[in-house]
Amino acid sequence: MSVFVSGANGFIAQHIVDLLLKEDYKVIGSARSQEKADGLIRAFGNNPNFSMEIVKDISKLDAFDHVFQKHGKDIKIVLHTASPFCFDVTDNERDLLIPALNGVKGILNSIKKYAANSVERVVLTSSFAAVFDITKESDKSVTFNEESWNPATWESCQCDAINAYCGSKKFAEKAAWDFLKENRDSVKFQLTAINPVYVFGPQMFAEDVKKHLNTSCEMVNNLMHLSPEDKIPEMFGGYIDVRDVAKAHLVAFQKNETIGQRLIISEARFTMQDILDVLNEDFPVLKGKIPVGKPATGATHNTLGATLDNTKSKKLLGFKFRNLKETIDDTASQILKFEGRL
Ligand code: NDP
Repeated sequence: MSVFVSGANGFIAQHIVDLLLKEDYKVIGSARSQEKADGLIRAFGNNPNFSMEIVKDISKLDAFDHVFQKHGKDIKIVLHTASPFCFDVTDNERDLLIPALNGVKGILNSIKKYAANSVERVVLTSSFAAVFDITKESDKSVTFNEESWNPATWESCQCDAINAYCGSKKFAEKAAWDFLKENRDSVKFQLTAINPVYVFGPQMFAEDVKKHLNTSCEMVNNLMHLSPEDKIPEMFGGYIDVRDVAKAHLVAFQKNETIGQRLIISEARFTMQDILDVLNEDFPVLKGKIPVGKPATGATHNTLGATLDNTKSKKLLGFKFRNLKETIDDTASQILKFEGRL
């Protein structure tokens, strides 16, 4: 019995693979190139329980066919994490919306064609972007929870890359629930969506730390490289540690109570001020080098916008998430070590 993880070389997926291997699952991952696949196999110490397949572009609806043709009978669990998460795109449809949507449609159809009777659980890495209304994030009278859906349309979300990314996650997740409704009699699997907020935390392998990091960790990296007089980027969102997001993917298929659920993975709200407070307090090497702002005025200390109520998800998952201090400390110290400053 194997677990298939799409986009296994991604920031979140590497932590998922790590936990799966530690729990003795046989893992088949996918990456876009042989080089990335080989690198990951080496990074996990040539673990005999870990193998990789190449899936070049999830925009192609048959991208996963060869994986399920080859391994379909053996795969019981599918964790679909692959989806573009970047804002430096030139074409919102081609670079964000289509790969996200076709990735979901494609993998579910490949399961239907080649593994309808063997795949029992599918966990989709969706996002809080599929949940919230970006225009209401700073509205204190609004509450988002597991029932909420991003109201964007295919057209309206294309005003900029951030909106298009949020739309891509909404349309992709919606396609998964619709697929299951339409194909309930043709597939065996049950579906769970994981909807994380901004994911911070260390890269799985310190050797992978580079000058620029994955989109969410780059927000922390960027703050660490501002000058004291630089303007602090405005930002309000939820945060979660990557190790908790990875664990949630495992719990999502290990428990029956999570079947059919959307799990919002968020510890609490934050602003850049909250991150700066942790950086200034915990890293003497950054003292006087980064902005101080107005300490203790961020979302840790005040209600600054819409409420995120994920009580239901936290109860279903049943484990405690890391706090901002721990996730920022571990993100920042890995970066500072890479730069030889710690
Ligand atoms: P990464 O960019 O590190 O991982 C994304 C993965 O998807 C990579 O393996 C990437 O391949 C793959 N991918 C992207 N586009 C394609 C494509 N067209 N064809 C094939 N593979 C593709 O991001 P994260 O780990 O942060 O994100 C993983 C998932 O989590 C995504 O679904 C994202 O939307 C979701 N998420 C992330 C959050 C965060 O804050 N990080 C918050 C909420 C949800 P390659 O490395 O070759 O580009």
